[in-house]
Amino acid sequence: MNTKDKGFNTKLIHAGAFDDEFGSATVPIYQSSTFKFKSAQHGADCFSGASDGYIYTRIANPTIRALEQNIAQLENGYGGIATSSGMGAISSVYMALLGAGSHIVSSRAVYGPARGVLEQDFSRFGVEATFVNTADTNNIVAAIKQNTKVLYIETPANPTMEITDIAACAEIAKAHNLILVVDNTFCSPYLQKPLELGADVVLHSITKFINGHADIVGGVIVTKGPELYKKIRHCMVYLGCNMDPTQAFMVIRGVKTLSIRIDRAEENAMKIARYLEAHPKVAWIKYPGLESHPQYELAKKQMSGFGSMMSFGLKGGYEAGEKLMNNVHLALLAVSLGGVETLIQHPASMTHAAVSKENKLAAGITDDLVRFSVGIEDVDDIIEDLKNGLANC
Ligand SMILES: *Cc1c(COP(=O)(O)O)cnc(C)c1O
Repeated sequence: MNTKDKGFNTKLIHAGAFDDEFGSATVPIYQSSTFKFKSAQHGADCFSGASDGYIYTRIANPTIRALEQNIAQLENGYGGIATSSGMGAISSVYMALLGAGSHIVSSRAVYGPARGVLEQDFSRFGVEATFVNTADTNNIVAAIKQNTKVLYIETPANPTMEITDIAACAEIAKAHNLILVVDNTFCSPYLQKPLELGADVVLHSITKFINGHADIVGGVIVTKGPELYKKIRHCMVYLGCNMDPTQAFMVIRGVKTLSIRIDRAEENAMKIARYLEAHPKVAWIKYPGLESHPQYELAKKQMSGFGSMMSFGLKGGYEAGEKLMNNVHLALLAVSLGGVETLIQHPASMTHAAVSKENKLAAGITDDLVRFSVGIEDVDDIIEDLKNGLANC
């Protein structure tokens, strides 16, 4: 079915699906590494591009393509490129768009390894990177140099919940001839469509909201046009960070419920945010859906909902954060986000325990910060869990 002009929920269920000779209702797992050519000529046509037949799963695969087309339609883009992980997507984009002597401007609060791979590895190949607070777009303009090629933003950013104005970034990128890349993981295409706001490339850790069930790791890239699509796909295929057909099948299953999962999680998140905002042991809370968020108006403008990610600070600082971790029982003590299960994390005592105070602060991680990914359990149970956990903090 042609779903291009259909609504978002219809696309979630049907976009990218194709008919096979058995009339399968869902896209099957084509767990085959290689594909038979019908003749020598057919083989030659597949390689030249005259036929769009399949060759080898690292290059393309029917199950993976169904997912790629699904996400491309959700983002209203030209084409999708599925990868083994979100970092596979990020690395493919960097490899395609950067080279010796080029420079990238990125968000200071960007996903840690997305920064690390630039500073520790791409730097060895002569790529320069500058990280600024992109929530203030003046910082971006000030960081642009003659050799800047890419503007890379993540919004809302992790775990500070800083929001960057995508449309304003698109104007800056256009004026300076830069490619604008947006990591849309925290919103998913249900809540934010960066390509419609002027971005050239959007990418996701599919591990999070799109798959939504904490059972696979994966990534996806969607480009606005064919040129960037070809360039980035080439790098994905050469890097070899393709998705696997079974992984794609899991995500095709997960994505179908994206909107109903996010609606429920967001409804829960709003109630939890209000509860935490009024809690005497909570010093501050950052949730884009609260009027107290410094960029509440921008969130309302560029997002169609506020999502289910938040961070908050405890008056009792580091010790209180550690105590809370040990006194919640429903929320899982785990990294990652965007799944049906509620997750809680205290970066200072957990993921960032080995990071210097200076680097933690540079990334916006204070000792009191707790990150919370709200799931779709009964909200009263989640609040009860927080209430009990906070009682001892
Ligand atoms: C998790 C995450 C990534 C990395 O994705 P993986 O699937 O873990 O490789 C990138 N960006 C953001 C915002 C993330 O949350």
